[in-house]
Amino acid sequence: MADKIRVLSGMRPTGPLHMGNYLGALDNWVNMQDQYECFFFVADWHALTSDYEKPGPMGEYVRQILIDWLSAGLSPEKSTIFIQSKVPEHAELYLIFSMITPVPWLERNPTYKDQIVQLQNKDLSTFGFLGYPVLQAADILMYKAQGVPVGIDQVPHVEITREIARRFNYLYGTVFPEPEAILTQTPKILGIDRRKMSKSYGNAIYLSDSPEEIRVKVMQMVTDPQRARRSDPGNPDVCNVYEFHKLYTDPEMNRQIDKQCRSAEIGCVECKKIMADNLIKAMAPLHEKRHFYLAHPEIVEEIIIEGSRKARQIAMETMQQVKAAVKIDY
Ligand code: SF4
Repeated sequence: MADKIRVLSGMRPTGPLHMGNYLGALDNWVNMQDQYECFFFVADWHALTSDYEKPGPMGEYVRQILIDWLSAGLSPEKSTIFIQSKVPEHAELYLIFSMITPVPWLERNPTYKDQIVQLQNKDLSTFGFLGYPVLQAADILMYKAQGVPVGIDQVPHVEITREIARRFNYLYGTVFPEPEAILTQTPKILGIDRRKMSKSYGNAIYLSDSPEEIRVKVMQMVTDPQRARRSDPGNPDVCNVYEFHKLYTDPEMNRQIDKQCRSAEIGCVECKKIMADNLIKAMAPLHEKRHFYLAHPEIVEEIIIEGSRKARQIAMETMQQVKAAVKIDY
């Protein structure tokens, strides 16, 4: 373990995970487990930064996300899996970081500016929402993570974390490393209506969907919008079904579909059936594990108690160093 780079990442519990979450992050986390010393946490406090008015059934969301993670292959043998609010030291470090973080750093955060515009139905003029990158910095630096797996749009957050680490070390002496963003490549899959896959658009295929539900959704998928009739040649390059084929169908079959689509030898219905079969087959082991964890909630409970205990031990050690550095260790 000691020679592995430590990485940390989290997800907000906002409901069941869909294929976009899976292919955009979770699948990558599963693969990282052998290469890195991984910490994965359920960011329940973060869910409150934008949804404080209607938090939803948070306990249920936390349980669902944990079952999705474990079913997808996150392993408590390989990774430390925990819940943010079970390690209250995150809030303590967040408070100390908030003392030293200049407000303009937060105001210029592109995600903050973007979300204020995008989420006009929510009141985001709160201290918590402005300060969520500070909480993220506390999450990451608490474990002295050297790497943070992120998509390109989250790189500015890692940059703020680096700036906060640098400022803390400058003011009080070196305690924290400056973590690097580990950029992750994600396939460009969309929702069944060709918009971004999102719970709020009602266009998602969920990890919890049964084979029958997957099949129905695949058959509803919007394909190449230019291909109005079966006799029209299609373009797989702009087709969401084909993006799934690239992931779940063998390369030889893919080449054939590509050719047959362009020459109108294959219809979208047949093409979707092949994709649905392959997707369902690929998801079968995940579904099997899902049933197991649903039937054994006590195992999920044990995993999370143990993971949160391990995380908290490290967090308490970090806080001792922080308090000594800030001279509040009396
Ligand atoms: S045949 Fe397949 S790849 Fe071509 S447009 Fe239809 S669904 Fe997409």
